[in-house]
Amino acid sequence: MQEDSPIQNENTPDTTVLPRPNTRRRTRGVVIGAAALVALGLTGVAVATTGSDQPAPAAVSLDAQTRAQAASRADRSARETTAPATPAASASPSPSKASPTPAPTKTATAKPKPRKTTRPTPAWVDPMPGAAVTSCYGQRWGTLHAGIDLALPSGTPIHAAAAGTVVQAGDAADGYGNSVFVDHGNGYLTHYAHQSRIAVTVGQKVKAGQVIGYEGATGDATGPHLHFEVHQGMWNQIDPAPFMRAHGVDLGC
Ligand SMILES: [Zn+2]
Repeated sequence: MQEDSPIQNENTPDTTVLPRPNTRRRTRGVVIGAAALVALGLTGVAVATTGSDQPAPAAVSLDAQTRAQAASRADRSARETTAPATPAASASPSPSKASPTPAPTKTATAKPKPRKTTRPTPAWVDPMPGAAVTSCYGQRWGTLHAGIDLALPSGTPIHAAAAGTVVQAGDAADGYGNSVFVDHGNGYLTHYAHQSRIAVTVGQKVKAGQVIGYEGATGDATGPHLHFEVHQGMWNQIDPAPFMRAHGVDLGC
């Protein structure tokens, strides 16, 4: 169809020119003029091709008119779309105003800190792994043996059974020798006696498994061993075996 090609030609420059804001007014005039010319030309073509067919040119001219209206409408809509574009461009300074927002990002970087301080459930460990149990908690020779004896060669490292704070470190009375007491903050303390050397000081925070001293035979001890006690409140010794077993550590008693 020959009629289609001029219409498309008219349409193509229209859409391509429209986005330019400066030439808008001029192009609109040109477009309308072009549309009118095209309508005239089409009429001529239509007359030439269809001969005495009258309704056809009328339809084409109507079509050209609606196209021109659509073009002006498109022009307006294009202007409206460019108008919000300028507030958007003027909004670009406001991001620069909002650029002081790096300050909030500093507080955001501070967020990981509380996550680090969130203490995981204190894990409990064997205070002297691989040691032989030479005595359990219970009556012995008419008195209460208030702890578990764990034996390995003298100088073997002794580990904190769980995280806590050292509340006593030194020579304890009653034959305990060099002793360390760790308060675990949950109402329970652990007590490590007969040490040859103490490796921590009072007030020191220790982690589970941290070396707090070395096995020895200070105090009343027939040979080098760790005398390990669990206190439910200071000096209220309980059987360490079921307590430690409840925390996942089997001491063998
Ligand atoms: Zn003992």
